[in-house]
Amino acid sequence: MTTVAQTPFQMAQSQFDRVADLLDLNQAARDLLRFPIREYSFAIPVRMDDGSTQIFRGFRVQHNDARGPGKGGVRFHPQETLDTVRGLAMWMTWKCAVADLPLGGAKGGVVCDPHQLSMREQEQICRGWVRQIVRNVGANTDVPAPDVMTSAQHMLWMLDEFETLVGSRQPGFITGKPVGMGGSLARTEATGYGVIYTLREALRARFRKLEGVTASVQGFGNVGQYAVQLLTKLGGKVLAISCWDQKDRCSYTYARSSGVDFDELKGITDRFGGIDPDKARDLGYERMAGDAWLEQEAEILIPAALDREIREDNVEKVASSVKMIVEGANGPTTPGAEAMLLKRGIEVVPDLLANSGGVTCSYFEQVQSNSNYYWERDEVLAKLESRMVGASAAVLDLAERRGVSLREAAYLISVDRVVRACRDRGWIQ
Ligand code: NAD
Repeated sequence: MTTVAQTPFQMAQSQFDRVADLLDLNQAARDLLRFPIREYSFAIPVRMDDGSTQIFRGFRVQHNDARGPGKGGVRFHPQETLDTVRGLAMWMTWKCAVADLPLGGAKGGVVCDPHQLSMREQEQICRGWVRQIVRNVGANTDVPAPDVMTSAQHMLWMLDEFETLVGSRQPGFITGKPVGMGGSLARTEATGYGVIYTLREALRARFRKLEGVTASVQGFGNVGQYAVQLLTKLGGKVLAISCWDQKDRCSYTYARSSGVDFDELKGITDRFGGIDPDKARDLGYERMAGDAWLEQEAEILIPAALDREIREDNVEKVASSVKMIVEGANGPTTPGAEAMLLKRGIEVVPDLLANSGGVTCSYFEQVQSNSNYYWERDEVLAKLESRMVGASAAVLDLAERRGVSLREAAYLISVDRVVRACRDRGWIQ
């Protein structure tokens, strides 16, 4: 995968093109799957707290729903673009397929910065987003979920607006809801824990144990936090964490040679996953440049922040100690950077497998919501672990047998499943 790609959508397309060649897909299959099946872009007018009206731009993209209703998060981000959402929707299709979930791929977003918005203004954005898309989403159509800078509270506002508009209770419309209001136990932990289950399986295949491994992590939000929590609980050591500093408007890396104490660090982290620099210094963490997380003498890198964080222009910084990169975020490694990493013998456990724990648990939440019967936390986690182990084994095994990278193996499995569904439905031949 050596194509230089600029945007997440171009990245997703170039990754798909490579696998389309390996699978020798016909032109119709390529034309269908290189682009979303449907996309929506709309305005959300919001009356602000100061009495003014601001117009926010919202998106929903449904990439493919041949295997089931669309599924994918809604992101709030000031740099959100339709193009990013397209790429992320496409990745959701492959992610659901590699995890063998009966779901398609979708994604949504709003161009906004929640740091600058009151909770009331965010509520209005959530309700406005639902009002614009209500006819095109639903339990059997397309099911949203939380993502970057959206939480269980945002999902509940969206659910409330949806139920008001359709006139009935529809808990299966959205996932990532608060527990007790239709949410699933363990959904919050699911993505980060799934990253670590996948890491454990990938290490096991290389005759390595999780105990004693060292890691450096980018992002200390939902995914990063639970990945760090489980990794340290299972005997791994996290040497550094990089996160965004809203005050200085740049990222910093916090490192401590004795390792990160999860509870301690969580206690000085705000709800956006930003670490308090003064308190971190008092606890003995050294503050370094934002991309110093790449340079730590760790064996594992876990990017769990945003897309395109490991690129051709910074991949050289990846320390010589690094053996494996496990993608918690979506699209954190550009295809060009991945080619350079593979040449150096660094394996990349791809996002569509590594962070599929979130959508797997979202699927469990849908099942529970639709039947209005909720499972115990241990039951959810046991089902999650079993799914992640199964999906990891399939990818690791195919990569070994075909002599391809883990990303190519994951893509081969998922694209093949989606193409079959499209063929079985008669959409393509
Ligand atoms: P989040 O908003 O909870 O946390 C994001 C973290 O990244 C924060 O700690 C923030 O400080 C940090 N960050 C932001 N910009 C940064 C930068 N430039 N440098 C360093 N750190 C930076 O988001 P999340 O839900 O944890 O999602 C993280 C990634 O994982 C995203 O790519 C998302 O699409 C993906 N993902 C999330 C889920 C989920 O269930 N939440 C599931 C699958 C994939």
